[in-house]
Amino acid sequence: MARVFSGIQPSGELHIGNYLGAVQNWVQLQRQHECLFSVVDLHAITQPYDAASLPQRTLDMAIGLLASGLDPERCTLFVQSHVAEHSELNWLLNTVTPLGELERQTQFKDKSQRQESVPAGLLNYPVLQAADVLLYLATLVPVGEDQLQHLELMREIARRWNARFAQSGGFAFPEPQALLTASKRILGLDGQAKMSKSLGNTIGLLESPEAIWQKLRPAATDPARVTRKDPGNPDICNIFTIHQGFSPPEVQRTVAHNCRTAGWGCLDCKRVLADNMIATLTPIRERATALQGEPRTVGRILAAGADKARALARGTMSLVRRQMGFLDRAEA
Ligand code: ATP
Ligand code: MG
Repeated sequence: MARVFSGIQPSGELHIGNYLGAVQNWVQLQRQHECLFSVVDLHAITQPYDAASLPQRTLDMAIGLLASGLDPERCTLFVQSHVAEHSELNWLLNTVTPLGELERQTQFKDKSQRQESVPAGLLNYPVLQAADVLLYLATLVPVGEDQLQHLELMREIARRWNARFAQSGGFAFPEPQALLTASKRILGLDGQAKMSKSLGNTIGLLESPEAIWQKLRPAATDPARVTRKDPGNPDICNIFTIHQGFSPPEVQRTVAHNCRTAGWGCLDCKRVLADNMIATLTPIRERATALQGEPRTVGRILAAGADKARALARGTMSLVRRQMGFLDRAEA
């Protein structure tokens, strides 16, 4: 049994890209491994955000994850800022992280372009991510493709810390591995950038059937299908990628065939997709509605999760502190 860590930012509404790229995998992994999943609010503050609504967004993200199938009996679900050790290890790891590597990260380049004044926290985002995973000595990190570069850097940070502080034996960080799903990258409804909470190009996981259809209808498809009669290529169509997440295999085959032969128009294809999405998402939405009526229960689940996570984090931090040469605090 491996230890698994992954996180999601409360930076907006949980969307189908998050679900197919990460969360669905988390639900499977909790049955096989020791899993920690976190609503990473410390990451979310690296983008412009509204402090007044962050608590509610954090709670809503936890509700979305529980409704998706995370089971507090099988995994540890907690809020990142409830375990202060994340921030502490982040600082320590900053001192072994090469600046050039941080500047090269695609996500930093993308997100910094969207901000007038770029906070250092956005640059150091992958260091906090390394702290998240290394704090629990997790070896598997289920994420979408967009996070692979950060995972590589995380491995590099672990190697550098080990080379500097674990040379003469003792404790060393394991190098974590990424775990991808089949739908590792879902594009936004514009078909341009990846689907992202912060880009507003999403279909929310908890959206009503009507809203799902309203968003899917105008969504970008293979540009070769200019008219109903033009055949398309499902392999390059984002709608087909989403079909692969929600429609059964025989439907996927029919969809691909009807796309290549222009047997269906894009709207026909989208209607079938909408029906399959609605079938998968309706029970999730219903569970979320029930949990929204029980915020205290959710709060208790998150508090218990933070207690479990903190106990593990403290164990790691005492080893890290000792090997980095910090003086032990004397007992009073
Ligand atoms: P933000 O725009 O604020 O960065 P996000 O939508 O990218 O939000 P994150 O919280 O950064 O979501 O990522 C949560 C998880 O979802 C990560 O594992 C990430 O790889 C995965 N993920 C995000 N977007 C997609 C996508 N379009 N396709 C597949 N996986 C995705
Ligand atoms: Mg992201």
